[in-house]
Amino acid sequence: MSDCLFCGIVEGRIKGEVVYRDNSVIALKDVNPKAPVHILIVPIKHIATLLDLEQGDKGLISEIFSVANQLAKQQGISKDGFRVVVNCGAGAGQSVFHLHFHLLGGRSFSWPPG
Ligand code: 5GP
Ligand code: ZN
Repeated sequence: MSDCLFCGIVEGRIKGEVVYRDNSVIALKDVNPKAPVHILIVPIKHIATLLDLEQGDKGLISEIFSVANQLAKQQGISKDGFRVVVNCGAGAGQSVFHLHFHLLGGRSFSWPPG
């Protein structure tokens, strides 16, 4: 999608600090981090929201959590705990309508989230 920020980063039209890439997923540093480690794990395929996932995307979701596991260890946040968050819809704070998983760590987190 030409007007989508994350499609632009996936295709290299828009700059992004990419820390991981394979055939189905990229991961990049969030430009406005909410924690010392804040990485966005983004499917290459344009999927607007979690509600737009289809049966055929099951492998993709498994891959995303596998990348989260790997990056949490690589980024040194696995021992102290970290969070993986999906905001679905504007009411939950979604601002970029290309599905992404926030990987957050390096500080303590309160519960429930705000
Ligand atoms: P959402 O609010 O949709 O759950 O998350 C979107 C995230 O994208 C936000 O944390 C925001 O800081 C991040 N973001 C917005 N614009 C850019 C950008 O141009 N580059 C990167 N790397 N992250 C961005
Ligand atoms: Zn997109």
